[in-house]
Amino acid sequence: MTLIDGRAISKAILETVTADVEALRAAGTTPTLAIVVPTDDEATAWYVRSIVRAAERVGITARQIDLHGTTAPELITELAALSADPGVHGIICQTPLPKGVTLDQIGQHIAPAKDVDGANPESLGRLAAGLPAFAPATAQAVVEILQREQVPLAGADVVVVGRSNVVGKPAALLLLAENATVTICHSRTRDLAAHTRQGEVLVAAVGRAKMLGADHVRPGAVVIDVGTNPTEDGGLVGDVDTEAVESVAAAITPVPGGVGPVTTALLLRNVVTAARG
Ligand code: NAP
Repeated sequence: MTLIDGRAISKAILETVTADVEALRAAGTTPTLAIVVPTDDEATAWYVRSIVRAAERVGITARQIDLHGTTAPELITELAALSADPGVHGIICQTPLPKGVTLDQIGQHIAPAKDVDGANPESLGRLAAGLPAFAPATAQAVVEILQREQVPLAGADVVVVGRSNVVGKPAALLLLAENATVTICHSRTRDLAAHTRQGEVLVAAVGRAKMLGADHVRPGAVVIDVGTNPTEDGGLVGDVDTEAVESVAAAITPVPGGVGPVTTALLLRNVVTAARG
């Protein structure tokens, strides 16, 4: 079984992004990403730092706006102001959100042209309609990895486990746009393994540590493990039991080092696309 190297894929994407940023800067535009951080927790702070560092490395300006413990009206005002600010090209609002605030409530206040992580329901609707839109970077990472690994998607049986607006649903839409035959499974799916075993490609986006084992995987399948589940010792594990599927799958993305780094690279590529206008 091959372990797919997400860090290498990320590096290759970022090389192109760096060149594109240089060209934009030479033409007088500094691509700028605004990161709104509405909660004060350690995992979020770590993730935001990693985005800021990656942005700086490729020449993108990252503007962090800390609004810890904010309210929905305050967040909406900030997102609307950033949407109107010509010096800002991309906007993300980091989750988790404060208690009582939902992404549905606030996502619609990010201008679609700057919605580089596909948080506005309009972006998801446009994606469903086959119109140009930013998809959430994690969903884009699923397809990007499969394409770079030269996994044929047209006509392929692809099973996605998870139907969130952030990962499962947009990943399924992007795979459908690549002409895959897509099955979406969720918590109410009967006999999950019977479905997942049909997948030449299996995408796991559940959020349950090592939930999918050898019985869930079709022999020779390519497995994309989106799950990031914290372990007691401070590490991360995916939704797939990698050791258990080793003798069944042809390839799998590791956690960490798989989907995560590709997601960050694609978020930055989206900022470049937004800055081009
Ligand atoms: P989510 O909103 O909690 O959605 C989880 C999905 O899994 C739901 O659709 C749910 O079904 C389904 N599900 C739950 N239990 C199930 C079961 N027993 N059998 C089948 N389906 C089940 O999570 P998310 O935001 O999509 O994130 C999914 C995972 O990806 C998490 O581990 C998250 O940390 C990770 N993630 C990683 C990245 C990255 O860059 N690597 C980015 C974002 C998220 P229902 O709809 O029926 O409830």
